[in-house]
Amino acid sequence: MLPATIWLIEDESAIAQTLIYALQTDGFTVRWFERGEPMLSALTTEQPDLFVFDIGLPDISGFELARQVEARNIPFLFLTARSEELDRILGLEMGADDYIAKPFSPREVCARVRMILRRAQRHLLPPSTNPSLFTLNELHGVVTFCGTRLSLTRYEFLLIKTMLAEPLRIFPRQLLMDLVWTDAIDSFDRTVDTHIKTLRAKMRAINPDFEPIQTHRGLGYSISLSE
Ligand code: CA
Repeated sequence: MLPATIWLIEDESAIAQTLIYALQTDGFTVRWFERGEPMLSALTTEQPDLFVFDIGLPDISGFELARQVEARNIPFLFLTARSEELDRILGLEMGADDYIAKPFSPREVCARVRMILRRAQRHLLPPSTNPSLFTLNELHGVVTFCGTRLSLTRYEFLLIKTMLAEPLRIFPRQLLMDLVWTDAIDSFDRTVDTHIKTLRAKMRAINPDFEPIQTHRGLGYSISLSE
């Protein structure tokens, strides 16, 4: 496999140099952009395996860049210095695979990058599962149900992905909370229930005759792959 290519969009040269050095040492190919516009131009002819966006850039914000590349389904992470930006990331559910608060350790960034890329590559369900009921493409963040694509928020995607990894397993609420809402600052028990409810509604809209998510009273939820 070719080394993964990371595009780093960061206007502070000292931070960029530190990161480039760490990522290259880790075996990644890094391309550095000091501004958003040149990155968007470069994107017309090639694309990376992962973006690292600084949020505060002189021309276009990291948020805006993320929005503009969203359709490409390339994983990205944000670098952020301010807690209010962090709140926005968490509130947006815009699909950032991760964020890193400044000041950060370059080793931490490398570890996150490796993890995100691993996650993106391990994207298909085991072949033993019924492919016609659900398909999951992690790289593209897409789940289909009965052949129709589910339009999911980030947490809904992570939730169904977690459950589909182990069909019929009963997941207690707290476990789902721990596995899915890893980056949430405040979390409530009802969060899981609320997301299960919206997931069910979205699947019901596609196939009202089959309810794949079961509630096990007092225990948790499971998902089944056959009717
Ligand atoms: Ca900056």
